[in-house]
Amino acid sequence: MKRILFFIIFFLSNSLHAENLVPKKQCLTSIVLVDFDFPGAGNLSCEIINSQHIKLFINSETDNSINPSPWFAIRKSKHSENIKIELDYGNYNYRYNPKISSDNKVWDNLNMLNILKKNNDKILVIDFLPSNKKQYIASQEIITQSWYYNWFNELKETGKVRSETIGFSVLKKPITMFFIETDIKNPYIIILGRQHPPEVTGAFALKGFIDQLVSPSQLSQNFLNQYNIIFVPLMNPDGVDNGHWRYNVNKIDLNRDWGTFSQPETIAVNEKLIRLTANSKLALFIDFHSTYKNIFYISENSSNNLSKFSLENWINNSRSGLLGIDYNFQLINSSNKDNGVSKNYIYNKYNIPSMTYEVSDIEDRKKIKQSSSILATELMKFLVIN
Ligand SMILES: [Zn+2]
Repeated sequence: MKRILFFIIFFLSNSLHAENLVPKKQCLTSIVLVDFDFPGAGNLSCEIINSQHIKLFINSETDNSINPSPWFAIRKSKHSENIKIELDYGNYNYRYNPKISSDNKVWDNLNMLNILKKNNDKILVIDFLPSNKKQYIASQEIITQSWYYNWFNELKETGKVRSETIGFSVLKKPITMFFIETDIKNPYIIILGRQHPPEVTGAFALKGFIDQLVSPSQLSQNFLNQYNIIFVPLMNPDGVDNGHWRYNVNKIDLNRDWGTFSQPETIAVNEKLIRLTANSKLALFIDFHSTYKNIFYISENSSNNLSKFSLENWINNSRSGLLGIDYNFQLINSSNKDNGVSKNYIYNKYNIPSMTYEVSDIEDRKKIKQSSSILATELMKFLVIN
């Protein structure tokens, strides 16, 4: 009897212990289930205030995030009564207008006028009417590896693109480089994206840009006969899957690691570029990001490989098209100090025109695509020698 009791207590305490160790990624009440157990969900915890009110704590992967981009993504079950979801951003202000989707594809902004802001914008309380559908709510659209796979499947159909795993992230996810190359003697354009996980507007611009470069137009044909493109659209797959605000899982800002190369994600690209440049020339570097405004940060001088090419002239050539769709932007000649930023590193090492392509967090998604297409078209017009 004693022995049985011992085992019962042993198993009970063990299961309680396990419960404590594995944080639950959900809060379930009699009305609704809210969970964050999927790729891209973020570093969250939750508390049931009552059956119709769930509080979510949004946590950064570090305590000293620069340029904080508080990220969360959750899923709520259908619910037949009103519910409240309270977002607690801790010491940080919310940055993104929360968005909602029932299919994780089409997203709408929640109306901020109906959201109660508390504690100097560090808490948002959102009321939801009954819903007969499961819904996602997130800082921005949830753009994880599956989105990139779907896109690559579309690109493969053009017959122009191949991919190569050039390394692995800290958590052993593949770092994938894509190649569009007709002749390896042609100069290469290098494009990167998603060093910073929440920056999905930059991802949309990168996709629009590449899609235009491989479009079936004659201009594109001529361009791809003269230039190769390599791109790594997802530099930080671990950060993206874990819903990080900025860093990789070693808590390193990948866009401050260029030159140091302490992380497998940046090492993979750097080593590939070193091998590539043994036999080939680089023409141009573009790194896609997001911030509060549309900004093109450029570094160039007149003695680069393609002396006729100028980032400034390219952007200026695109200006009327961009303003025509009401895409407002700043063009900034930025410093080239060795601060670990990819643009500066590539510019200093390879002496090629280099740009950080920043897209506003709140830019209209259709305009992001249109503007990146305009820029890609103007780039091809500028570079193609007839
Ligand atoms: Zn960024």
